[in-house]
Amino acid sequence: MATNRTFTMLKPDSIENGNIGNILQMITDAGFSIKAMKYTQLTESQAKEFYAVHAERPFYAELVEYMTSGPIIAAILEKDNAVVDFRTLIGATDPSEAEEGTIRSKYAESKGRNAVHGSDSDENAAIEGNFHFTGAEIF
Ligand code: UDP
Ligand code: MG
Repeated sequence: MATNRTFTMLKPDSIENGNIGNILQMITDAGFSIKAMKYTQLTESQAKEFYAVHAERPFYAELVEYMTSGPIIAAILEKDNAVVDFRTLIGATDPSEAEEGTIRSKYAESKGRNAVHGSDSDENAAIEGNFHFTGAEIF
């Protein structure tokens, strides 16, 4: 597949546990280039909007609380087949089900505190990237 882009966040547990450097190294070693990046903290309204698709799920309130509990790193990544390959690199949502060697198998604490976000489609990658970055912040 042609070069495309995905969106990621290093979630609060990755920052708390000192894993920023290790996770970014895994991402760049896997061939992703960083098109945009920021260190920030989501407000409650931003987290609610970002995860609006999960609003009816039982874990939504806990997810919003967790995602606003500390800083995150948001980034747009580029690579051939970026969306699919990044989901492979991060592994399953629940780290106990994540393939060995994936980011979540190495660094996630639990199904909720699972180290990283990765977009699930090209369409959502564009929406999520534009949610966090203006055109002037993308290189
Ligand atoms: N999540 C959770 N409990 C669940 C499912 C999901 O706390 O049972 C959280 C988890 O942080 C996950 C996020 O909600 O990463 C979004 O869920 P999704 O099913 O989209 O998983 P992902 O795409 O991140 O693998
Ligand atoms: Mg998802």
